[in-house]
Amino acid sequence: MRVEHLNCACLCPRGWPWLVGAAADTAMGEICCHCLLIHGEEGLILVDTGLGRADLRAPVQRLGRAFTAIARPRRDETLCAIDQIEARGFRASDVRDIVLTHLDLDHAGGLSDFPQARVHVHAAEHAAAMHPHWRERGRYRSCQWQHAVRWQLHDGAGEDWFGLRGLKTLPGTSDDVQLVPLPGHTRGHCAVAVRAAQGWLLHAGDAYFHHGEMSDPPQRPAAIEALQGLLNTDRGLRLANRDRLRTLATQAIAQMRVFCAHDALELARLQAAGG
Ligand SMILES: [Zn+2]
Repeated sequence: MRVEHLNCACLCPRGWPWLVGAAADTAMGEICCHCLLIHGEEGLILVDTGLGRADLRAPVQRLGRAFTAIARPRRDETLCAIDQIEARGFRASDVRDIVLTHLDLDHAGGLSDFPQARVHVHAAEHAAAMHPHWRERGRYRSCQWQHAVRWQLHDGAGEDWFGLRGLKTLPGTSDDVQLVPLPGHTRGHCAVAVRAAQGWLLHAGDAYFHHGEMSDPPQRPAAIEALQGLLNTDRGLRLANRDRLRTLATQAIAQMRVFCAHDALELARLQAAGG
C-alpha cells in the first residue's frame, strides 16, 4: 500500500512559535493537520480530512467565531485534501473510504468534499458528536456532516495490536487500516494504524501534540500541556494512553512510525522519508 503524508490545513495562532519554543526549529511555527492519502486496493483512503473548502470559504459560520479568531486557519484552498487529490489527477469519488481519528472540527472539515465516501469512526465518537455535552459543543460542528454521510461505526473488543486493541475498518480487502481506541482527548478518540510497504504507520491523532512527548525522557513545552488540559475529556485516560504510545514509539517495533496530527516537524520528516 502506498501512503502519502499530506498537510490539509494550517492553523496560525498568534504567539504559537514563541509558546512552543519554535525559535530553535522554524518548522514548528505553525500547526499542521497531518492526514494520510492511501492508495488502496479498491480506491483511495483518507485518514483524517483537515479543513475543507467550505470551512475556508466561510470560516466563522463553519468553524465558529472563537475557533476562527484563536486558531486563525490559513485560507489557502490548495491545502484542502480535495484540492491535493485533484492535483494528482483523481476525483472526489475516487476516495472510497475516510477513516477518522475523531470528529473535532479540524479533523472532520473535509468530509463534505467527499460526499460519496464511507466514513469510518468509533461508535463512541459518533455518539459524542451527535449528542455532545455542553462542554463538547464548541469542538463538534454539525454543519460539517449535514450531507448524507455514509457512516460506518466501529465498536467491540477488536484484536490485539501490539498490546493495544485494533478494529479492522476494511475487512475483505488487503488494505489493513485499523482503528486503535485511545480515548481521553475525546470520548471515542482513536489512533489509526496502517500497514504500509515499509512497516506500520500509527497516526495518533490528538493523543499527543508535540514530538517531544514521544521521546524518552519526554519533553513538552508548558503551553502544549496547558492546551491539552483545556481539550481533554478525560485527562487520566489521555495521559495513560500517551504513555502507552511512547512505549510503542521508543521500542521501535517492526519499523513502526508513530506520529500525531499537529506536529509539523514529524510531518516534514515523514514527507522527506517518502512515506
Ligand atoms: Zn486536532
